[in-house]
Amino acid sequence: MKTTVVRAARLFDVTEGVILKDVDVAVRGDVITEVGPGLLGDEVIDLGDRTLLPGFLDVHMHLTGLRSYAEGRHLPPREILAVRAAQDCEALLTAGFTTVRDCGSAIALNLRDLVAEGTIPGPRIYAAGPVICQTGGHADAHHLPLDLARAQPDSLIADGPWACRQAVREAVRAGADFIKICTTGGVSSERDHPNDAHFTAEEIAAIVDEAHRLGRRVASHAQGRSGVLTAVLAGVDSIEHGYYLDEECVAEMVARGTFYVPTFDLRTFFQRTVDGGHGLPEWRLRKQREAIAAMGPSLLRAYEAGVLIATGSDYLGTPLRAHGANADEPISLVGGGLPPVEALRALTVNAATVIGVEDRTGSLTPGRWADLVAVDGDPLIDIEALRSVAFVMKGGRVHSPR
Ligand SMILES: [Zn+2]
Repeated sequence: MKTTVVRAARLFDVTEGVILKDVDVAVRGDVITEVGPGLLGDEVIDLGDRTLLPGFLDVHMHLTGLRSYAEGRHLPPREILAVRAAQDCEALLTAGFTTVRDCGSAIALNLRDLVAEGTIPGPRIYAAGPVICQTGGHADAHHLPLDLARAQPDSLIADGPWACRQAVREAVRAGADFIKICTTGGVSSERDHPNDAHFTAEEIAAIVDEAHRLGRRVASHAQGRSGVLTAVLAGVDSIEHGYYLDEECVAEMVARGTFYVPTFDLRTFFQRTVDGGHGLPEWRLRKQREAIAAMGPSLLRAYEAGVLIATGSDYLGTPLRAHGANADEPISLVGGGLPPVEALRALTVNAATVIGVEDRTGSLTPGRWADLVAVDGDPLIDIEALRSVAFVMKGGRVHSPR
């Protein structure tokens, strides 16, 4: 098996949080075999004046195939959604995202398999499949009659601990790599509110117990304080969004090692759509205005307390949330006050830790998958450099954009 040496002027060392000069990465098969100066190989890829980083991760996104917000209420045929979402997979890989975690989409389960078998180019996908929520919860389609909402493939509506356990079993049966639940209402769901606490402590504990017994982590869509706290105390593995975290929330998250995926770039999306021109309904804009004010303080509260933060764009493929632009999230984290080095960790090693694959990806270390990205410039000096991806290798294979 041949050894390929990938060489660039700079390399970001995730562990030390520094840029190293003139350090090479040797790759054999799908893994990194050596990292150091002046390595020898059968082939050398010299990327010149660029910075090498671990492949990027986005641990909260949705491969929906949607191209407008109106389509969310009037779904196009599944075949159309699937082909668009396949296009999004390629856009993600081209943008340097070698691993993603899809937080809710039935299509993603099949895209995961299509990427893995080499049929379509894309990132390695870890998928939740259907999102589990209570009747009237965030993943329930509030505008539909309940029987039609129950028939939607992207969600499972469950009430009561045993129904919640069954929903976990059904998600696992469908192929879920982890379990996504909703323990609060949301901004985009019509008849609930981020401050509504969803599922009882007993229901969440049943979900967590069932999921963990089956070797799956639990990610909770949780925005308001009460639903965050109940989920954290019940043992979920990550809080998604967490717009309204208080000191008690972050203290419990630190104590239990609960991860935080703030989906912070949504603050920009909320502001832009509040400013007008995108046709979102007033009930939604009202909730967005409230969230915008809370998101910044929650992010800093969690960061200062030492909660592990990972990047999740919550992009769907829709306007202002197009796949391929997912580096918006680490850039927004810096805008929210995180040091660039922490945003880069959120994008790599921390995100890998949220999925549970930190021993396989997220850092340029021998033994890890050869997931490498090179960008123009130095992202520690200017985080916007993350948008200038010039080279992508996933699992030892160079991705050539069409
Ligand atoms: Zn989401």
